[in-house]
This record gives sequence, structure tokens and C-alpha cells, in this order.
Amino acid sequence: MVTPKFRRVILKLSGEALAGQKGYGIDPEVVYSIAKQIKDIIELRVQLAIVVGGGNIWRGISGSTKGMDRATADYMGMLATIINSLALQDALENIDVDTRVQTAIEMRAVAESYIRRRAIRHMEKGRVVIFAAGTGNPYFSTDTTSALRAAEVEAEIILMAKQVDGVYEADPLKNPDAKKFDELSYIEVLNRGLQVMDSTAVSLCMDNKIPLLVFNLNVEGNIKRAILGERIGTFVGG
Ligand code: UDP
Repeated sequence: MVTPKFRRVILKLSGEALAGQKGYGIDPEVVYSIAKQIKDIIELRVQLAIVVGGGNIWRGISGSTKGMDRATADYMGMLATIINSLALQDALENIDVDTRVQTAIEMRAVAESYIRRRAIRHMEKGRVVIFAAGTGNPYFSTDTTSALRAAEVEAEIILMAKQVDGVYEADPLKNPDAKKFDELSYIEVLNRGLQVMDSTAVSLCMDNKIPLLVFNLNVEGNIKRAILGERIGTFVGG
């Protein structure tokens, strides 16, 4: 059996990742294909927790620029992440992967509340923990949630699954000549304003020395490659 490079990881999935071609909502087939990739790594006995975004349903900032109260709009975004978490849980359980959704906003009928030690225990037992509702606080993001939870559960790395194959100096869709970075330091990400995570999240990773790997989720098998330590995407550390 191949040996994973990392034993405990946080996987960050943006809401967009669950939407597929449509770009909004949830495409069950896409969620199913992500679940299959996740099952492959659980079989390597990797301890995994997932942070899911909500941008495929609602982003607080979009509401607030149209006049909504920012905190209210952000709470709506956090609720969106709970919807996504349940979709992911359903797809995983369907293929016999044990999961627990833990939410930062209490919702007893649908999920456990976030309890750090319990989350760690689930992971030790081979269950995939899905962290829903972000940090539970407005003005934050699910990227910050990944950094926070990674520090709390002592994950070795955050795998940032994206729709592009790494971090570029400019948007590769608008500028085809843009160079891709193989490796970056946190401070470079911050100074250059690179679109890896928001600055709060990058700072938290920097302060707690949590490395990140940014890679393309749409390439079949990439989550496994990342876990095995293959040099795909862009590594952020140092
Ligand atoms: N959000 C929040 N606090 C958090 C995490 C998320 O207020 O700790 C809200 C915020 O409005 C955000 C939305 O939830 O826009 C969805 O999360 P995010 O934008 O991070 O999702 P992604 O872009 O990864 O799909």
C-alpha cells in the first residue's frame, strides 16, 4: 500500500466546487464524483476533515453591497454552507464513508455542534468530519475557517481544492501568459495580493505555520496525489 505523506488534513472545498458547470446550486453528480475521490484517500487511513464554502448559494458580501445588513447576509452565507455540508455528507454516506457534520451554528436536528475534541475523536475513528457554518461569526470566510480548524485539530496541511491548477501571478483566464507559481511564502501571497485565500486566513496560516497546497479539483485523482505528497499545484509555506 502507498504511504500518505500527511496523516491529518483539512480539505477546503469552495461552494462553487459543488455546482459544476451551472456555476450555482448543487449538482449531485459533481458532489458524487468528489465523494468518490474522498473515499480513495480515506482508504489510505488519512484523517480528514472538510470545510465547505457556500458561494454557490450565497455570499454575504454580495447581499451587503446591495444594501443588506452585512451580518445578516453573512449568517445567510453560513446557512448556505450547512446545505452544502449535508449534500456532501449524503454523497459520502451513499458510498459507505462514515461522516459527521459539525456545525458552528447550533442546529440540533441536522448536525452535531462543533466540539473540537469530538471532531478529533471522529477523525481518529476514520470518520470524515465536515465543518459547517464556517466559524459561526459574520465578517469571516470559510477560508479562515479552514485555517482556524486546521490549527485547532493540528492538521498538517490545508488542501485548497480549486477550479484552477494553482496560484498564478494574474488571472490565467484573462491573461493566458500569466505564470504559475510552484511555491510561495505566506508573505509573498500577502504582499502580492494573490488570490489564494483572504488575508485573514493567510495570516492565520502564517502565524500557526500551517502549509497550504492549492490544486485543481477537476483533475481526477488530484486529492490523492496531494495526500501522497506529489508536487502538484502551488505549495504555500515558509
Ligand atoms: N461566512 C461567514 N463567516 C464564516 C464563514 C462564512 O460569515 O466564518 C459567510 C460569508 O458571508 C461567506 C459565506 O458564508 O460569503 C460563504 O462562505 P465563503 O464565501 O467562504 O464560501 P466559498 O467562497 O468558499 O464558496
